[in-house]
Amino acid sequence: MSAYRDGEKTIVMLPSSLTKAEEEFEIARILERLDGRERRNRPPTCDEELMERAMELSRRYLGGRAVPRSVRWVANQRSRWGSCTPEDRTIRISSMLRGMPVWVVDYILVHELAHLLEPGHNAAFWRLVNHYPKTERARGYLEGVTAARSLEPTG
Ligand SMILES: [Zn+2]
Repeated sequence: MSAYRDGEKTIVMLPSSLTKAEEEFEIARILERLDGRERRNRPPTCDEELMERAMELSRRYLGGRAVPRSVRWVANQRSRWGSCTPEDRTIRISSMLRGMPVWVVDYILVHELAHLLEPGHNAAFWRLVNHYPKTERARGYLEGVTAARSLEPTG
């Protein structure tokens, strides 16, 4: 049994021995599983999803020690991808990141979360951030975008 997306269509392959009822059951089950996978692999769209994602990343890469009070999308931040105010534990993520790959958004979240534990860009800070395995790749990606748009690097 297998399934894959082909543009707007989902192709499901089932053994021909299944009854009509079994077929319908299997298709529903497979579609549900695909949806769940796609939800996890797309970037957060609202502030609630952003907060949820941040908590998950904190748990996974920072031992759950970075606990923000709020994580919000902001549209008025054009020169930095993200910013963090450790004093009140708030994080803002630039809406310029919308539409970028989820692993790039994750990197910015991990970067800002790490600032809750380490405000400066010192060696201890980068040791924390480097727990996220795609840090180098995401920084390279954003440097490319920055160069293209002549923006300042991550704050
Ligand atoms: Zn920073």
